[in-house]
Amino acid sequence: MSLIVQKYGGTSVGSVERIQAVAERVAREHAAGHQLVVVVSAMSGETDRLLGLAKAIQNPPSPRELDSVLSTGEQVTIGLLAMALEARGVPARSYTGAQVRILTDSAFNKARIEAIDAAPIASDLAAGKVVVVAGFQGVDKDGNITTLGRGGSDTTGVALAAALKADECQIYTDVDGVYTTDPRIVPEARRLDRITYEEMLEMASLGAKVLQIRSVEFASKYQVTLRVLSSFKDGAGTLITTEENIMEAALISGVTLNRDEAKLTVLGVPDRPGIASAILGPVADANIEVDMIVQNVAADGSADFTFTVHRNDFDRAFAILETSAATLKARQVTGDRKIVKVSLVGVGMRSHAGIASRAFRVLADEGINIKMISTSEIKISVVVDDKYGELAVRALHAEFGLAGEA
Ligand code: ASP
Ligand code: MG
Repeated sequence: MSLIVQKYGGTSVGSVERIQAVAERVAREHAAGHQLVVVVSAMSGETDRLLGLAKAIQNPPSPRELDSVLSTGEQVTIGLLAMALEARGVPARSYTGAQVRILTDSAFNKARIEAIDAAPIASDLAAGKVVVVAGFQGVDKDGNITTLGRGGSDTTGVALAAALKADECQIYTDVDGVYTTDPRIVPEARRLDRITYEEMLEMASLGAKVLQIRSVEFASKYQVTLRVLSSFKDGAGTLITTEENIMEAALISGVTLNRDEAKLTVLGVPDRPGIASAILGPVADANIEVDMIVQNVAADGSADFTFTVHRNDFDRAFAILETSAATLKARQVTGDRKIVKVSLVGVGMRSHAGIASRAFRVLADEGINIKMISTSEIKISVVVDDKYGELAVRALHAEFGLAGEA
């Protein structure tokens, strides 16, 4: 007998029929003798609908009141699922975040979980009941309803699994696992059996939008074994766990493509101490996040300084640089939105030299010019022209033998 936390996303509970299908699955696991805590999202589209209503009344909506509105989506689903379970003769009980007492801070719309009182849930489980919990919400110390940020039900699931010391936290979604790359770009992309937390964090932040990033950080911190599975198709999914639990780490686990960045360059600034901070200080002050940074010095002693930001921040960042160009004594400011970032991710890189040069050779053979490079212990990223992005992904995926059977 194991204690399992299952989380079902919006599409998995998107209609009465789908809620019935989730109830069937839960009933089967319950009959097999497992203890189950089920965390659900709002029905698909519901959170957006509620957000629209709020904005039609007040824009931007009052953060506290918005959480009162948004949290109702999940409250509907827990009641419906508990009924569907009862109708099948499975004893079930639904709880809102406040009823469990998922205690959060008071940062409305992006609250963080501080503590969970696991005792009442544990006693329901001991009595043979299935516990159904509303994802994405909590309560602060003053009793205000809070929400955890979009996609936050994943984090509710992981936090409950940590608090209850569950054997596994299963995230049911509309894809059957984490893939070596986007199957729409590379049809031979393969589902990964296992991946480390670290790799998943890199893949998640690089555009493989399967899990809320914060839930993976949480799982890694509390060593909660996570599994991503499809609620529409049977299969083992992808296990996300510690490196020790992965006997034979693959050299490379995945290739990602990020189309959300844009590049800015300040040309011909004097090469002297303080120049990087003079360029990036005002950008940071405007709350714009900078990703990759490259500086090169020309023979005449002047420097070119290039960095990337989210495409949505491009116009603002460009305006800031134009304003500071005179003080910086820069020759010119240029920008390029037509770039993408392609990354190779794998813990195997730590123990193998030569991955970067192999990757660069493959790109060269395809005639793809690399504009920027950055590396970490388990990741190599390059910026290339956006028209070459998919070609770069396909070439790297093939080079590192990622296609084929799991
Ligand atoms: N219903 C919320 C959202 O749409 C939370 C979640 O689904 O995880 O973002
Ligand atoms: Mg989600």
